[in-house]
Amino acid sequence: MLLRGLFRRCAWCGGRGSFFTSWYRKSDNCQTCGIRWERGYEGYELGAATMGVFITFGIILGWMVASLIFGVALAPLLIVAAVLAISVPVVTYPMTYTVWQGIDLLIRAPSAEDIAEAEKWLAEHSAQ
Ligand SMILES: [Zn+2]
Repeated sequence: MLLRGLFRRCAWCGGRGSFFTSWYRKSDNCQTCGIRWERGYEGYELGAATMGVFITFGIILGWMVASLIFGVALAPLLIVAAVLAISVPVVTYPMTYTVWQGIDLLIRAPSAEDIAEAEKWLAEHSAQ
């Protein structure tokens, strides 16, 4: 499930481009299986955002440690760190959602209601 998330796929069905109609526009339901992201859980966005912050800091920290090991001068070190601080969240934003969905599904398996709701959503959207 987490691997699927890393590739921006739906953690539940593995559907490609599951929730994203483009890089940033996301749908509430998976385009393939119809499952909802949040499933009535209000902290969902917060979890994804927190994970995004950890990933960004992790990568910057990794860069700083690597620059110390390889003796990179302070100015380029800080410039690259600043570029990373801006670009990493932009690039990883969709992944934080799909990976977080994988974690969420591992912690709270979808209930019969979630599945029923997903099937209803799919039926409504394939009818159009
Ligand atoms: Zn799906």
